[in-house]
Amino acid sequence: MSQITTNLMLVRRRLELAALAAKREPEDIQLLAVSKTFPAIAVEEAMHAGQTAFGENYVQEAVEKIQQLVKLRPWLEWHFIGPLQSNKTRDVAEHFDWVHSIDRLKIAERLSAQRGEFPDLGELQVCVQINVSEEESKSGIALEEVETLCDAVAKLPNLVLRGLMAIPAPSDDVSQQRRAFAAVRECFVGLKAKHSNDLGYDFFDTLSMGMSDDMEAAIAEGSTMLRVGSAIFGKRDKIKI
Ligand SMILES: *Cc1c(COP(=O)(O)O)cnc(C)c1O
Repeated sequence: MSQITTNLMLVRRRLELAALAAKREPEDIQLLAVSKTFPAIAVEEAMHAGQTAFGENYVQEAVEKIQQLVKLRPWLEWHFIGPLQSNKTRDVAEHFDWVHSIDRLKIAERLSAQRGEFPDLGELQVCVQINVSEEESKSGIALEEVETLCDAVAKLPNLVLRGLMAIPAPSDDVSQQRRAFAAVRECFVGLKAKHSNDLGYDFFDTLSMGMSDDMEAAIAEGSTMLRVGSAIFGKRDKIKI
């Protein structure tokens, strides 16, 4: 069995055990395999092991990979999860199914307009990214501003507001990990309740949180979508593409 296949089995097992511990259904938690820095062949290998949703961070690298795998496109779901600059939004609108990293209205507006140029692709699924640890260097919008941005994104055509995404500061302390994820969940639950009758929030069902080192804490706090890279594909080279 290939290493990627073995790793995927282990990660799925971790997901199941954490769901069990949290009295949740494993089926309610999706697994996104973060393939950034790994070649198309690694994605194919994961696909043969039953993985269909993949996450990418760097637009150019991702678009090349998506094009190399164009024959498999109907079976794959591509999620853009990295920081997004306005000059790269067209490529993302043209090639991805999801974007997790909306943190400015301008980016959402561009994606909305550009997605409209590809009517065959259907709507782009998007999450608003929260800066939950309030670090200067991290992307994401402050908690107090999330609702305003969500309300505006919810109104845009060609986009479907699916939920919230967060990357808390790394910590070895599980209770600290859980505190950060809990803050995101509370924000999510609050927005969902408040907007339960609002059209743009019809599909607001996604909490994108949890990576290789904190997926258990994220599941305990209600994550519905894990973004797992190194635990599946192995350690990444330090060089950022
Ligand atoms: C790289 C990355 C991941 C995966 O991280 P691992 O620690 O390798 O699991 C998840 N989310 C985002 C936004 C990333 O950039």
